[in-house]
Amino acid sequence: MAQNTLFPLTEEHEMIRQTARYFAQNEIAPIAAEFDESGEFPYKTVMKMGQMGLMGIEIPEEYGGAGMDTLAYVLALEEICRADAAHGTIMSVNNSLYGYALLKFGSDAQKQKFLPPVASGKVVGAYSLTEPMSGSDAGTMRSRAVRDGDTYIINGRKSWVTSGPVAGLIILFTMTEPAKAHRGITAFIVEADKPGFVRGKKEPKLGIRASATSEIAFEDYRIPVENRLGDEGEGFKIAMAVLDAGRIGIAAQALGIAEAAFEASCAYASEREAFGQKIGQFQGVGFKLADMKTRIEASRLLTYNAALAKERSKLTGERFTLEASMAKLFSSETACFVADEAVQIHGGMGYSKELPVERYYRDARITQIYEGTSEIQRLVIARAVTGLK
Ligand SMILES: Cc1cc2nc3c(=O)[nH]c(=O)nc-3n(C[C@H](O)[C@H](O)[C@H](O)COP(=O)(O)OP(=O)(O)OC[C@H]3O[C@@H](n4cnc5c(N)ncnc54)[C@H](O)[C@@H]3O)c2cc1C
Repeated sequence: MAQNTLFPLTEEHEMIRQTARYFAQNEIAPIAAEFDESGEFPYKTVMKMGQMGLMGIEIPEEYGGAGMDTLAYVLALEEICRADAAHGTIMSVNNSLYGYALLKFGSDAQKQKFLPPVASGKVVGAYSLTEPMSGSDAGTMRSRAVRDGDTYIINGRKSWVTSGPVAGLIILFTMTEPAKAHRGITAFIVEADKPGFVRGKKEPKLGIRASATSEIAFEDYRIPVENRLGDEGEGFKIAMAVLDAGRIGIAAQALGIAEAAFEASCAYASEREAFGQKIGQFQGVGFKLADMKTRIEASRLLTYNAALAKERSKLTGERFTLEASMAKLFSSETACFVADEAVQIHGGMGYSKELPVERYYRDARITQIYEGTSEIQRLVIARAVTGLK
């Protein structure tokens, strides 16, 4: 089926899209239902994604990455998510949360040490901002890092860490000066194989079940000062700037899920018969498909536009917060709308585990929640357009 009808791609971009699509359809799609059911982490395919350069698409080659641009990342992620959103979650955190945080805010020594293992997929990267009592409102976090000579001692619990059960390296946000609220947050690069790092139980989830999520805890975990990312008190600024990049990834993920649900619906509506004709010939079904397709193409434009805005920012230094939030908001709402309509078009089969449509429906839901809920995206967009705080 033709995609990108409204957006011309260069040969290089078309190539990464085709490569990711071939891999996703041949190696991920066939195992997606099994891993969704078991909730196991898909080590083998994640390792292969690393070998293909998909775990560090924008990381320069000198640090072991593929050295490509944000549009290449978005195109590849969209294809992975069209096959399985759980693989996409692991890929997106690795690339646009862990990788981007280090690329943008790391020192050269930190990039040399902490990017190559994650860009190759040998070590999985994670990003840990959320805590049991602090989600959208990060300034209320309770975990603490206390300076002690050339080290900090970290204590506290972090929740909802994507890849928490398996990650080897984690960008951690924790409080160094609680009285300053969000201005007292500092970022660190945590090595999970050191004493005092504890992994909590895996969260049982509605969707993206093969992407392992857990709490992590710190019990007198000592971290050297050289693992601090940026200066003390810069953590909130880093966390938000990194989420701008992450949200473009979630927009691409939502786009991929929506495309998969739409394609399944189109095929089903062209085959299934009722009352002596194909169900797609009923105006009630055809109009659904028309709305689904239109919203998908609008999501694509917003998502690719956000990717281009991020590319431009490398030259101009301008933020791409507005573009990223609009893309994430619209694409995630589109994914939920399209997956819901897909279940409806499939009738009883849409509710059956024999087809992937019910998985798309469950997987789509997370895109409206993580990396800032839809309500938070609307706040960000409203602030950007009014200039009001
Ligand atoms: C599967 C999964 C994976 C995740 N992975 C990660 C990860 O890797 N790293 C990480 O740090 N976090 C992760 N998260 C956490 C995620 O980012 C948070 O769940 C999300 O930001 C919302 O925070 P919360 O759950 O505390 O909800 P709350 O902040 O408690 O919000 C509850 C409700 O209140 C609304 N609300 C809150 N504030 C406002 C406001 N000002 N205006 C209007 N409405 C508001 C919210 O939109 C929401 O509807 C993950 C979550 C899930 C479910």
